[in-house]
Amino acid sequence: MTTSLDLHQDKALRASAPTSTSGLTDRFGRVHHDLRVSVTDRCSLRCSYCMPETGVGWLSSDTVLTATEFVRLVGIACTLGIQRVRLTGGEPLMRPDLVDIVDGISHLPQPPALALTTNGIGLASRAAGLARVGLNRINVSLDSIDPDVYRRITRRDRLDQVLAGLSAAKAAGLWPIKLNAVLQRGVNDEEASTLLDFAVQYGFELRFIEQMPLDGGHAWDQQTMVRESEILARLSSSHQLTPVAERGHSPARRWLVDGGPATVGVIAAVSQPFCAGCDRVRLTADGQLRNCLFSLREHDLRTAMREGASDDDLAKLFIQCVAAKGPGHSIGQVGFRQPARPMSAIGG
Ligand code: SAM
Ligand code: SF4
Repeated sequence: MTTSLDLHQDKALRASAPTSTSGLTDRFGRVHHDLRVSVTDRCSLRCSYCMPETGVGWLSSDTVLTATEFVRLVGIACTLGIQRVRLTGGEPLMRPDLVDIVDGISHLPQPPALALTTNGIGLASRAAGLARVGLNRINVSLDSIDPDVYRRITRRDRLDQVLAGLSAAKAAGLWPIKLNAVLQRGVNDEEASTLLDFAVQYGFELRFIEQMPLDGGHAWDQQTMVRESEILARLSSSHQLTPVAERGHSPARRWLVDGGPATVGVIAAVSQPFCAGCDRVRLTADGQLRNCLFSLREHDLRTAMREGASDDDLAKLFIQCVAAKGPGHSIGQVGFRQPARPMSAIGG
C-alpha cells in the first residue's frame, strides 16, 4: 500500500539524490557504502526488546555461513563500493572462529573499515586477539550499570563481564569505544543521565537507540516507547546539550555534553526516520541479503553461492537487492508489518 508519507519520502529522496553512482546505488540515488554482517543468531543474553526469554527458533547450523563464505561475500561487496563493514549478530563473540572472519576481511584486496557490535560477554579474553588481526572499532551494548536492572533487561547476571570487556577493549587499542543503550519505560529510562555520566567519566561515546518493532516477542508499543524528545529532556535536566551540526550517513544525531569534548548521540529511527540518508545493506548469518532492517523480502546469496554462483553472479544479486530498496520504513503507518525475523536474526 502506498501512503502519503511514502510519497513524501519518495519526493524528498529524489530531491536529495546524489549525482554520483556506484555499484550499489538504489533507484533514489542512495549510494551504499555500509554492510552489516550478522555472523550468528545465537546469543549469550536475552534482552527483552530483542529476544524472547525461551522458545527462540534458531537458524539450523547447516544454513549458517562459514568464515570462508562470509569473507568471500564481503570481498565481493567491497568491489561494489562497500567501505565499512560491521560484524554483529546475535552475539558475534559466540562464534569461536570470529577471529578468522576478522582476519579474512582485513586481508581482502580492498579491506573495509571493520567494526564489531557486541554485548561484551567474553570480550575480556578476546579483544586483544581481534585487534591484532585487524578489527578497527567496537560498539558495546550496555543498557544499565545497575546490576539488578541489567539482569532484568538481559535476563542474565553478567554486568561484571561487560565491564571487564570494556577495559580489555580499551587496553587492546580498540578506541574510541561506543556504547549503545536502549531505554525502556519503567525499566531503565530514569538511568539515562547516570549512563551518560558513566560514559563521560570513562571516555566512551554513548548513543541511545530508540526501541524498534523488531523484538522476538512482538510486544513493541509506539505509545510507550521512549522517544528521542524524552531522552533529550531527561539528559538536559543534568547536562547542557549543544547540537553537533554534521551527521553524514550516521544514523545518530549528536550533541556536545557540557560544552564538549564528550558527545552523546541518539538514533531516533522511529520518531525521526533517517531513511533518506541510509547507505546500509545487511547480510544475515544464513546468507540472506536485506536492503532494510524492516524489509519483508530477502535475496538468497547462500543458495546461489552453494550452487556454484560465480563472483559476478553474486555481485548481480547484491546490485538487484539494493536496486529493490524502498524509500523507507513505514513504522506507525497503516499496513506496516513487523518482519518475521527478530533483530537478533537480522543484525543491528
Ligand atoms: N548482541 C550484540 C549487541 O547486543 O550489541 C549485537 C547484536 S544487537 C541485535 C545490536 C544492537 O541492536 C544492540 O545495540 C541492541 O541494543 C540493538 N537492538 C536490539 N533489539 C533492538 C530493538 N528492538 N530496537 C532497537 N535496538 C535494538
Ligand atoms: Fe543478544 Fe544483542 Fe539481542 Fe541483547 S540485543 S539479546 S545481546 S543480540
